[in-house]
Amino acid sequence: MKRTVILLLILVPATGLVAQTSARKAPAPDVYLITIDTLRADHVHCYGYANIETPAIDALAKDGVRFSHAFTPSPITNTSHTTILTGLLPSKHGVTDFAIPLPATHPTWAEFLSAQGYHTAAFIGAVILDSKSLAPGLDRGFDFYDNFPEHPQTKVRWGRVERRGMEVAQHAEAWLTAHPRGPHFVWVHLYDPHDPYEPPAPYSTTYKDRLYDGEIAYADSALGNFLAFLKAHNWYQNALIIVVGDHGEGLGEHHEETHGIFLYDSTTHVPLVVKLPSRATTVKVVDAQVQTTDILPTVLDIVGASPVQQFDGESLKGYFTGETASRTVFGETDYPLRFGWARLRSVRTEGLKFIEAPRPELYDLRADPGELNNTYSPEKAEVQKSRALLADLRAKLPPPTSSGQGPAGSGSAASDFSDLPDPKDKIEEQNLLHRAMIASDDNQLADARKALEKVLEMNPKSPVALRQLGELELQAGNYSQAAGHLKSARQIRPDDATVAYNLGQALAKTGDLQGARDALEASLKLTPGQIAPRILLGKVYLELKDLNAAEDQFEAALLSEPNNAEAKAGLAKVKAVKK
Ligand SMILES: [Zn+2]
Repeated sequence: MKRTVILLLILVPATGLVAQTSARKAPAPDVYLITIDTLRADHVHCYGYANIETPAIDALAKDGVRFSHAFTPSPITNTSHTTILTGLLPSKHGVTDFAIPLPATHPTWAEFLSAQGYHTAAFIGAVILDSKSLAPGLDRGFDFYDNFPEHPQTKVRWGRVERRGMEVAQHAEAWLTAHPRGPHFVWVHLYDPHDPYEPPAPYSTTYKDRLYDGEIAYADSALGNFLAFLKAHNWYQNALIIVVGDHGEGLGEHHEETHGIFLYDSTTHVPLVVKLPSRATTVKVVDAQVQTTDILPTVLDIVGASPVQQFDGESLKGYFTGETASRTVFGETDYPLRFGWARLRSVRTEGLKFIEAPRPELYDLRADPGELNNTYSPEKAEVQKSRALLADLRAKLPPPTSSGQGPAGSGSAASDFSDLPDPKDKIEEQNLLHRAMIASDDNQLADARKALEKVLEMNPKSPVALRQLGELELQAGNYSQAAGHLKSARQIRPDDATVAYNLGQALAKTGDLQGARDALEASLKLTPGQIAPRILLGKVYLELKDLNAAEDQFEAALLSEPNNAEAKAGLAKVKAVKK
């Protein structure tokens, strides 16, 4: 990480990654980014929702500017955060699902500010933003990135997959206390409103019939704690502070319980509040439509860095002094691809939403803000104009690489949208799969099994349900059931190395050694670098009395991990038998 920073500093004069624009040297303001996960704009008090108290966001909006129509291009966490931190659309930065590394060619917010002499740190509330596992590359440019422990000691979700907002805020406060020298760029991620909805007391009782709102109110209290800390240290007044939601929540609208699959306003309309350093603005609310790709260009504009980098957004500075024009905003989700369904793209111009899908959609948002009455017909001028905007965007993407793994938005429109099922027809399946995933996270195996079995009743060939159920039975020690589901999953997705590995494990446990050998060989052929399947394959060969093959596997494992104790023990066993 340090090396990247140094490299950037060296590169600055040569490439002009960031250039100082003005001769005057006002002290650089501290920059604080607070992202609140899964936060619908219409569930925040100052956005007109009377059923909740969000005093911290409301007070910040009073001190700053509130954008009433801000949209995220992506409805999933990693993708939308990467957009905020790079100023790029998902199809441009390429992080279109969990665990996809952010390419080094895209500089991040932290790298830009690091190059300006900022001290940078990130505090995350969920393991899905952990840079060591599910969000590789997102830590670039941060002096400190508060990842989760690699070997968590606990089985409960707290501390293992999620941190409460108050804990995240306290980590940030402790770091700031230990590193008082500015300027600072600190990113605080409050995950609480993400499901499952389990706010702590007193929010669990105050909001007992609306636990999602309870989580929001609690996250707001953590924000309030952090802002009070800044004020107490005299770090508030001159700071640039941005609070933004990463995406919203379906809450059953369009039959979507959570988020990720659709591009309706329920999951793309987010709150955005910007408090500027010291000087107050006369503009308090901006109703123009803007997008979260605009945030990073705004920050660089305010701190006086002019990047050569091209963003998919523009500075919002003009709105602070009265600009009112709405911007065209885009929506992109590749999350449905994970389940074998078509990806979606959308264009939201003022008053109109077009969604490209196997069954396309067009909504007149003024008459139909709930996006319930699809008025799509291919000859409509609005449809053609929206399609032209999407085609323009696609044309700007880099060409696919030689491996065929192009960026997410590449490929023809036809292959993007018509070959696969429309997610609208699959949303009930997805709701169940999501419930199963959350239940598994919490070790609620019976609930997870019930949801997955229901998916298989609806669609016996759901590869995701077969895989998850197979993994669940493997974990539960039901090896022959596990093998059955994983065999079916493997027939549908023969290129999935993890399915093959898990099948190998299940078969080895049932005593089907030949079957286990074949599955493990297949897994390693797909992904040769894996250690665990290789060691298991060595053990299977040992049991099959094929000593040379066993020796080969253990030696291969030791080549990539010379100190692996299991491989060493396996090799010793082979040698003992050979004697
Ligand atoms: Zn999220």
